Amino acid sequence: TTTSDAPHVVVLGAGVIGLSSAYVLSERYPTHRFTIVARDLPEESDLTNQAWASPWAGADWSPIGDYEEKKYKRELITFNKLWDMIPSGLVRILPSRICYTDPLDDAHIWYKDLVRDFRVLKPEEVPAGALTGVAFNTVSLNPQLYLPWLKGESDKRGVNFVRKKVYSIGEAAEIAGSKGVVINATALGARSLIGVEDKAVYPIRGQTILAYAPDCQEFLSYPLGLSSIPTGEATYMIPRPAPPGHVLIGGTYQEDSWDLSINFDTARNIWNRCLELAPALRNPETKILGHNVGLRPARRGGARIEAEWFKLPLESEFLPTPEGEKYDFLVIHAYGFGPAGYQGSWGAAEEVAELFKEHLKL
Ligand code: FAD
Repeated sequence: TTTSDAPHVVVLGAGVIGLSSAYVLSERYPTHRFTIVARDLPEESDLTNQAWASPWAGADWSPIGDYEEKKYKRELITFNKLWDMIPSGLVRILPSRICYTDPLDDAHIWYKDLVRDFRVLKPEEVPAGALTGVAFNTVSLNPQLYLPWLKGESDKRGVNFVRKKVYSIGEAAEIAGSKGVVINATALGARSLIGVEDKAVYPIRGQTILAYAPDCQEFLSYPLGLSSIPTGEATYMIPRPAPPGHVLIGGTYQEDSWDLSINFDTARNIWNRCLELAPALRNPETKILGHNVGLRPARRGGARIEAEWFKLPLESEFLPTPEGEKYDFLVIHAYGFGPAGYQGSWGAAEEVAELFKEHLKL
């Protein structure tokens, strides 16, 4: 049970990163008070709002970029946690095939022990246009169901939700109280949150098509260059665990594009590329359910999971503060996950919890 003088933690942001962090922290520190303060919440019409990224993801685990130790650890924790959630029905096993335009070597398949049932495709299994390929089992989820589930878990633990756009770290700290802590999971919002103003944060525009395609049961993505970082386009299909037959078809990967409008030439192009990939899309029952655009909240230099002590109030808030009345305030940043917020979410929440423990000497 919490009391009103229990340490107060404000989680700024209710995307998959803020919600997962609140989940792990509130489980580990049941006597603390938790409030999630966010402009967009995982409920009602916000789930179709383009101002935040989390409603628009596929979402599955897939290899993005080269091997990095921290990323590997974060994604391994997340993969295993999601795998354990399969019996809940929120997560499904997703057979996958990724094909490459280059010869394979070990460095390029750094993820072979992270996923399940990994194997290299035989030459006769590799489709035209690619040189090599791999098959494995991964996980996928439907953000439209997963985000409300995460919120429900926080509700059960007594976490408060407040819908509010906060303009500065100082304002968030005021909500937390001078002995409180803020977890900054504002994603693209970190660019303009006063006190953070992180201009390394940028959008990667993702246009996708949501389809009912009951015969598509595999994650397919190819052909890719070996670093697996798409440029401009990313061709993939992500069947979701529910509702039955729902598949997210992509897509684009447009760095620094803030354009939230749907481009129908792009949509046609995505559809045609995926038709080549998956003849299963030709099933006459296939229907287009929607066209989406979402902005992946990326950061030059990679995601930032870091503790920062602020001296508040901030000079930059232009507040007429009397001399000598500043106090130290802890903020733990967790933003900038770009195309990989879901697949790193549980690991990121663990890292936030480690920083929390270390800096509050718990
Ligand atoms: P967000 O979901 O953007 O949440 C930010 C939160 O902060 C929101 O609640 C917002 O309202 C709040 N906020 C911001 N500023 C303020 C403020 N000043 N005051 C109050 N609140 C504020 N990832 C995967 O792992 N796998 C995939 O298959 C995948 N596919 C994707 C496909 C597409 C097309 C797109 C667009 C993304 C995809 N992603 C995928 C990426 C994933 O969606 C993101 O990495 C993830 O959602 C980021 O979560 P987040 O919590 O950091 O940010």
